[in-house]
Amino acid sequence: TRKEPVLVQDLVQEVLGVVRHNLELKHIQVITHFEASVPEVVVDRNKMRQVFMNLIMNAQQAIGSDGRIEICTSLAENGHMAEIAVSDTGTGIDPKHLPRIFDPFFTTKSTGEGTGLGLSVSYGIVKDHGGEILVASELGKGSVFTVRLPVPSEKL
Ligand code: ADP
Ligand code: MG
Repeated sequence: TRKEPVLVQDLVQEVLGVVRHNLELKHIQVITHFEASVPEVVVDRNKMRQVFMNLIMNAQQAIGSDGRIEICTSLAENGHMAEIAVSDTGTGIDPKHLPRIFDPFFTTKSTGEGTGLGLSVSYGIVKDHGGEILVASELGKGSVFTVRLPVPSEKL
């Protein structure tokens, strides 16, 4: 695994480039807000792309059609952490499922639609970068998944 300095907003744009057409077909609006002050993080570009792809695909599946995905980047903890929040107007997550969504093979989707590996693999990748993934969700309203990645100390 090769890690390189990247702007998180570039990763988000790269993934959106792949899925944007599909989202349009499903009438899912994409809103991005990139805070200019977020410095580069040092990541395995392909792996971190996979993380955002997973989160955006989950958001799309939770919406089905007609809805909104919002992606915001910001700096947290006095500039020590870069945050990327992916919000959706989808189904939300049942509180009784919430403790298990990062478990390997946990899925509420029918066979063929989901393997239940996306979040567990994504969590592993983000952990491997010294970060974490947080989730907040309200059933019937939507979910927010926040990826937090450490900003290298020389950028502070
Ligand atoms: P999969 O997508 O293959 O089911 P994931 O690991 O990506 O596996 O997600 C596990 C489960 O977490 C999903 O089946 C779903 O129940 C829930 N989930 C994940 N993201 C969302 C989301 N944005 N909105 C609603 N539920 C979600
Ligand atoms: Mg998934």
